[in-house]
Amino acid sequence: MDKNVKYIFVTGGVSSSLGKGIISSSLAKLLQARGFSVTIQKLDPYINIDPGTLNPYEHGECYVTDDGAETDLDLGHYERFSNTPTSQANNVTTGRIYQNVIDKERRGEYLGTTVQVVPHITDEIKRSVRLLGKTGKYDFVITEIGGTVGDIESFPFIETVRQMKWELGNRCVVIHLTLVPYLRAAGELKSKPTQHSVKKLLEQGVQPDIIVCRTERPLHEGIKNKIAQFCNVVPTSVIESLDAESIYDVPLMMRDEKLDIEVLEKTGTAVPEKLDLVNWERFLNNLKHPKYEVTIGLIGKYIELKDAYKSINEAFVHGGAMNQTKVKIRSIQSENITAENAGSLLNELNGILVAPGFGSRGIEGKIEAIRYAREKKIPFLGICLGMQCAAVEFSRNVLNLKDADSTEMNPDTPYPVIDLMETQKKVKNLGGTMRLGAYNCKLKPGSKSYEAYGVEDIRERHRHRYEFNNEYRKIFEENGVRLAGINPEDDLVEIIEIKDHPWFVGVQFHPEYRSTVKQPHPLFVNFVKAALEHKGDTKR
Ligand code: GLN
Repeated sequence: MDKNVKYIFVTGGVSSSLGKGIISSSLAKLLQARGFSVTIQKLDPYINIDPGTLNPYEHGECYVTDDGAETDLDLGHYERFSNTPTSQANNVTTGRIYQNVIDKERRGEYLGTTVQVVPHITDEIKRSVRLLGKTGKYDFVITEIGGTVGDIESFPFIETVRQMKWELGNRCVVIHLTLVPYLRAAGELKSKPTQHSVKKLLEQGVQPDIIVCRTERPLHEGIKNKIAQFCNVVPTSVIESLDAESIYDVPLMMRDEKLDIEVLEKTGTAVPEKLDLVNWERFLNNLKHPKYEVTIGLIGKYIELKDAYKSINEAFVHGGAMNQTKVKIRSIQSENITAENAGSLLNELNGILVAPGFGSRGIEGKIEAIRYAREKKIPFLGICLGMQCAAVEFSRNVLNLKDADSTEMNPDTPYPVIDLMETQKKVKNLGGTMRLGAYNCKLKPGSKSYEAYGVEDIRERHRHRYEFNNEYRKIFEENGVRLAGINPEDDLVEIIEIKDHPWFVGVQFHPEYRSTVKQPHPLFVNFVKAALEHKGDTKR
């Protein structure tokens, strides 16, 4: 039962991209720091069942959970801040809600009644929210509602919030995040857009309890009072959210604005005295006062998109802070890299990361970058497609297997060193059918990977259809490749390393999804360390 669970909804008004995910994550962090257990969920109003089939131009990176859900990238923030794994239940779309309702209707579970948005769709949304509460694991369930109030597609979600507030009383709190723009010509902060967006919520029957105002200038007392007065909240419930230098500053900014105390008081929860943010502050201190700096090349085909490699960027923030090092990421479009220009494009880098991806665009450039990293002994991390490209590069340029390839890029290659997994051969549908989620991997003692993790048995998350072709294991091993990680259940090669190289690691899985502030990912930590050594900036 979820009798004592408190439900916090976070809605957005005026504009998208105000940072609902970061506010939700920061609140979760503060509540945790006060000793509560918290989970965060995202409700996305679009019709795709999940973002797994969306391309990065539409929706940035697709994040993957341990249980194999392909999710919105905000779940990455939730995990990075709260260090608590999310799951299928933490990201629900309109598509999923409708699919569940329609399946029930086909099974006859509605007993001949007319199936409608209210109550059937809203009941299903409610069920998805309370499912997390009913696990018995959490004191607070924070539910972020995607989109902006007033959007046609978010209507059933806001209606669900209205019903839950009515049913749960003060166990349900609504935080509305809005924008307070500064008009340069008038020299003023403006509260009108916030008033209008709160009116929009009120039209749908929802009175927000707390209003968080995203702003580029501090909110003065006058404007806080005005927002309070026009939006029916007390002035202490108008919270300033100034633009921050780093997303990781936001929990401390929200602490100073007492967002957590507002939430606790509104839900009738006694405010514990303890607020333990010691480790968070230590991390921030390392982040803000680095002693060293390295430049890492991020080679991918989506580099112009800010969010396409979100988790990789954040994993470098964590791994860098752990090494007291600022990691400067230089994004390089793989389509532009050729054998001729690789030297001039890559020679200043202290490390090279080849990104995950699908399809053949930019592949040859990735392979050239890997060749350069291998030959010039620059630390290298290849993730998923990046690891597969490393296998192709090694086959072509070391093993002299001309035209070796992945069958994803060339189905007729004479040397299919990367090939479609057996289990994928009968797959017809694209959605949710890759090898997804966490699988075991056994590491080889003495390998760079083992050195990083310090244990033999690990579990990492996956999202792929192709794999290293086991027929090539022998020839790779005989020629200097270490198969450093193997999945013990199905004997799949998870990690390749080059022995005669300071740090060359290709992984079939996605380490970036598991990196958090509390537990920076060991491969990123050691990759940054190797980059420091390459640069000659060693502190040890
Ligand atoms: N396209 C490759 C595969 O499906 C790699 C996927 C990835 O990089 N996530 O196996």
